[in-house]
Amino acid sequence: MIGSRAGSLSLVRGNAYNCRRGFKGSDLAKILIVEDNALNIKLFCDLLAAHGHKPEAVTDSRNALDAARAFEPDLVITDIQLPHVSGLDLIRMIRNDDNLGAVPIMAVTAYSAQGDEERIRAAGAQAYVSKPISVVRFAETVDELLKDGHDRAAAAVLDDQPEIDDPESRANQSDDGPGPGEAGGEGD
Ligand code: MN
Repeated sequence: MIGSRAGSLSLVRGNAYNCRRGFKGSDLAKILIVEDNALNIKLFCDLLAAHGHKPEAVTDSRNALDAARAFEPDLVITDIQLPHVSGLDLIRMIRNDDNLGAVPIMAVTAYSAQGDEERIRAAGAQAYVSKPISVVRFAETVDELLKDGHDRAAAAVLDDQPEIDDPESRANQSDDGPGPGEAGGEGD
């Protein structure tokens, strides 16, 4: 079981990552965190890992776009108040990137002045959570965005496919399994 590292890599997508609490609303997801505050990075990483995800953090927003291109995240969580490249600019850059344009983005911000949410959403983020974060709201928002992203990706794949004559293979493709969607009701 404790075999070669190369061998275990392929298992990571299945169930080898963090099993402390098992999987909740979504499968293991790669989540890029862009945040300049070390305590927040630790908090977000711990939360996401506890939910079975694979977080990766970037502290310098100037490296964030390259990191996102390399990591190919399922979700980006970005601070807004960042030195160098602001969170709003980063959101726009991600939205305009050929390969990252469809990745869901969640903004986290310490100051919610009037109009901030509109600006953040106009830049291209789907969700917005203010600091200090509510752990429950943070986790729920992550789950929602991952589910939305998953649904969109699945729809895009189906759209791209030529018509399929065999109804059985069509049925197999839309089979999502019973898991997602059932696990969201816990935080009320
Ligand atoms: Mn900051």
